[in-house]
Amino acid sequence: MLKTTTAGSLPKPAWLAEPEALWAPWRLEGDDLVRGKQDAALVWLKLQEDAGIDIVGDGEQFRRHFVHGFLETIEGIDWQKMTKMGIRDNRYEADVPTVTSELRRPTSVHGAEAAFCRGHTSHGLKFTLPGPMTICDTIADGHYGSRPKMAMAFADLLNAEAKELESQGVDVIQFDEPAFNAFMADVKEWGVEALHRAIDGLKCKTAVHICYGYGIKANIDWKNSLGAEWRQYEEIFPALNDSRIDQVSLECAHSRVPLSLLGLLKDKEVLVGAIDVATDQIETPEEVAANLRAAMEFVDPERIVACTNCGMAPLSRTVAEGKLKALGAGAALLRKEL
Ligand code: ZN
Repeated sequence: MLKTTTAGSLPKPAWLAEPEALWAPWRLEGDDLVRGKQDAALVWLKLQEDAGIDIVGDGEQFRRHFVHGFLETIEGIDWQKMTKMGIRDNRYEADVPTVTSELRRPTSVHGAEAAFCRGHTSHGLKFTLPGPMTICDTIADGHYGSRPKMAMAFADLLNAEAKELESQGVDVIQFDEPAFNAFMADVKEWGVEALHRAIDGLKCKTAVHICYGYGIKANIDWKNSLGAEWRQYEEIFPALNDSRIDQVSLECAHSRVPLSLLGLLKDKEVLVGAIDVATDQIETPEEVAANLRAAMEFVDPERIVACTNCGMAPLSRTVAEGKLKALGAGAALLRKEL
C-alpha cells in the first residue's frame, strides 16, 4: 500500500549537461556520452532506491527532451524543415520538426536503456514515453492531413516500442500527455483511442501522466490565468476511468485541481503528486503525508501511489534529491500511521 514512484524526469548531473535547463546540450560526446548517460542513470537509480522509491526509473538521463528523445530515431520526420507552431493550444510558440512522409520506427528507441536499468535494479522499473496526442502537439504535420490520423500512426510506433520495453523487464510504461488538459474534446474523440492503440497487447502496467506542465515561466503564467479552480479534468476523467489504462498520474501538491475530481477515477490507481516541482522549497515528510491524506478522502489508499507532480528535470540536483527523500519518508510516515 502507498507505494512510491516519480513522474519521470530528474536533473542531469552537471558533468553530463548544463544544470537547471530544459533542452540543455550534452557536455560529452561519442563513447563518453554513451557511458555518461549510463552513469547518470546509475546515480539516480541508487538515489531513488536510497530515498525509498519503490518503482524507479532512469530519470530520463538518456534523452534531452521527453518528446523529441523518442522522435529522434523515427523515420519520416524532417528535422531541417522546422515549422513555427503554437503548442499546448498556443500556450507557447516553438520551432518544431515536420512529418513529411510515412512514419517508421526502424529500430528500438529505448530498449537498450531499459535493459541497462533492469540490469542494475531489483526494484519495480518504470519507463516513460510521450503520448500520441502530445507528440502531435509538438510536431508539424506535412503528410497525414489530420491530427487523429497522425496520432494513430505514432500510437502504432509507440506500441511496438512499449512491447520492446516490456520484453526488457519494464514493469510500468507511462505515457506523458500534458496536452490532455488543452484539448479536452479531442481526448474524448480520439486521445484515449490513440492511447489504447499504444498499449494494445501489453501485460505490464500502463499509466498516463496528465499535467499542467513543468515549473517553467510559460506554464506558471498559464496556471495563474486559469482561475481559482482547475476543472479541466472533470471533462476527461470519465473517459479515462472507462479506459484500459491502469494508472493516472496528476499533480495534487499546491495544485488548484479540486481533489474531489479524483472521485471520478474510481476504477484507476492514482499517482498522487505529493511533491511540488515548481518550487525549490523541499517538502517535509509531514507535508507529503498531508498531501496524500488529502487525496485519501477521494481515493482508497490501496489505489494510491505517492508520486511527484511532474518531472524534476529543471530543478537543481540537490533540490531534486531532497524532494525524493521527502517523498519516500512522507509515504513511509503515512503507511505507519495506517
Ligand atoms: Zn508533467
